[in-house]
Amino acid sequence: MSDTVRVRIAPSPTGDPHVGTAYVGLINYAYARQNKGQFLLRIEDTDRERSTRESEQAIYDSLRWVGLEWDEGPDVGGPFGPYRQSERGDIYREHAMLLVRSGAAYPCFCATEELEKIRLRQRELKRQTGYDGTCRGIPKEQALARMAAGEPHVIRLRVPEGRTTVIDRLRGNVEIENEQIDDQVLLKTDGFPTYHLANVVDDHLMGITDVIRAEEWISSTPKHLMLYTAFGWQPPRFAHLPLLRNKDKSKISKRKNPVSLLYYQQIGVLPETMRNFLALLGHSMPDERELFELDEFVKEFSFDRVSLGGPVFDIEKLLWLNGMRIRAMAPEVLAGRIRDHLYALDRLTAMVPMAQERMRTLGDFAEVTSFYLVMTPKLAADDLREACKTRTTKEAATLLAGAIEKLDALRAFDKELVETTLRAYCEELQITTGDLFGLFRVAITGRKAAPPLIESMVILGRAVSSQRLRAAAEALKALPEPKKKEG
Ligand code: GLU
Repeated sequence: MSDTVRVRIAPSPTGDPHVGTAYVGLINYAYARQNKGQFLLRIEDTDRERSTRESEQAIYDSLRWVGLEWDEGPDVGGPFGPYRQSERGDIYREHAMLLVRSGAAYPCFCATEELEKIRLRQRELKRQTGYDGTCRGIPKEQALARMAAGEPHVIRLRVPEGRTTVIDRLRGNVEIENEQIDDQVLLKTDGFPTYHLANVVDDHLMGITDVIRAEEWISSTPKHLMLYTAFGWQPPRFAHLPLLRNKDKSKISKRKNPVSLLYYQQIGVLPETMRNFLALLGHSMPDERELFELDEFVKEFSFDRVSLGGPVFDIEKLLWLNGMRIRAMAPEVLAGRIRDHLYALDRLTAMVPMAQERMRTLGDFAEVTSFYLVMTPKLAADDLREACKTRTTKEAATLLAGAIEKLDALRAFDKELVETTLRAYCEELQITTGDLFGLFRVAITGRKAAPPLIESMVILGRAVSSQRLRAAAEALKALPEPKKKEG
């Protein structure tokens, strides 16, 4: 392993860029800079169904917005590329074969339906579910011959007997009995790697010295250590950062907090606040100060001051910190920031056609477009109720919740996709689009009549749109039902 610290983040480009990625990114960045090492960005896009280039681009843009620069990555290159897993297929296949030849892994020819049956039986008997080892005992020569003959198979790790100890920088030693671990699939039938194989092979070949990642991956680490042993490689040091939490201490989720970095960017959180806020999550400065800059964090970061207590992603605190920074700015500096945020030319250009028909003076623009620019439009109880039409407020909230789910699942957020999705949703429920769009209009704009709805949602972006729909659903649930007329 190299003496120079080399760390990485390895996000999967599915959906909007997550605040957790920036949080883990910031810690990796600080550790790399403090140690005069390198910080890499690797794109883990082995999930071919869900990975998109738009999402990948959004990761680059929003991490740069937060102020993180990486030394190597798909977009900046570097000596250990390619840095996008979808371009490294041969490397994974070769490495899987190395393990098959050494006996540390084996091909498994069991059909999916067979495996499903086994799993069901295990469940019925209330046993631990997992692979039953049917193909484990096939002699190697025979297995290799069947592979060569083109018989469909996956490649599984032969989990050895014994126990595995994860040495975590933040948690000390975590021991696990190997028999609790299933013979992991390393390479799928289509020849694509699973997360475990690709992650370990890349970390090794890219010379990663320290894996600093979120706690949710700690259960994968024993499997990774077994892979390092199987390859005969020295494993990196591990540190699993605490999971970010909602205010009620549950794992952070978009149901309770916007988790997209794009949301915070769009509502006008300053990037310097965002990184300052992220740096306060689970880490404290030696003098406990709360307002500081990135270079100060780089200087002071220490694993010794990371607390595992489950840091709360508290938006009120984020806004408080943002307000402090805004008040500390020289007015002319702030003026520039406001102009750049509210009236960035691409945003203006998108908004103008929405407003033009409704303007008599230039000043009217501010009035017509105000709902784009505010953090959350005010929702009047009467408007919400009226938009429910014959539905109860609870029913309307459920209707919105279903639509949010559909929108969140979209691979992209453009006019055509949003429109066809919402229309299909209405058809599925056999309701008129007018019913749904009426609710949407109030939720998104805070008004009963407004510029074209879907276009407006696209301008606001998915993160802000779904947050507004969620807020409206919450507001609806909180509304008392009107009293039924007596008699
Ligand atoms: N692709 C994983 C993710 O999405 C990487 C986890 C790791 O850092 O090992 O976060």
